[in-house]
Amino acid sequence: MMDKKYVVIIQCDLTHNRCSGFACTHSFYKRTDKFKNYNEDVQYISFTCGGCCGKGVSSKIEHLMKKLKNNTDIDKEEVSIHLSSCMTTDNYHADRCPHLDYIKYIIEKKGFNNIVEGSYISKTSTQLRGEGIYNTY
Ligand code: SF4
Ligand code: SF4
Repeated sequence: MMDKKYVVIIQCDLTHNRCSGFACTHSFYKRTDKFKNYNEDVQYISFTCGGCCGKGVSSKIEHLMKKLKNNTDIDKEEVSIHLSSCMTTDNYHADRCPHLDYIKYIIEKKGFNNIVEGSYISKTSTQLRGEGIYNTY
């Protein structure tokens, strides 16, 4: 994590219809949960998967790749891509995304190998997973 310069958070498009993304952003700036090991000067961006089945990730990652290349000296190995907790866990909004492997495949095919599952971690959802009310993966 210490060698990373850029963090991308991909969020569930369906969930984002009723979530501002505040908790993910807050967690990133506070360096908590899945972001606790990043340096202070790491940049960040978030966008959604584009909707089921996640195919839209391809063009968004492609666009980001071009912008990074043309505007920064950051290379792909210095980028961490977080798949938000609302995509990767069973949680208040919905269960784990059924297209997650496909989305990971798209990201890896574009040459980004640092994929992290999770972002902000809800204490309530963690408790409910512990109690077996939500699924655990
Ligand atoms: S993990 Fe939570 S805060 Fe982040 S995008 Fe999903 S629902 Fe919103
Ligand atoms: S592909 Fe997955 S992450 Fe994207 S909108 Fe559908 S359920 Fe959500």
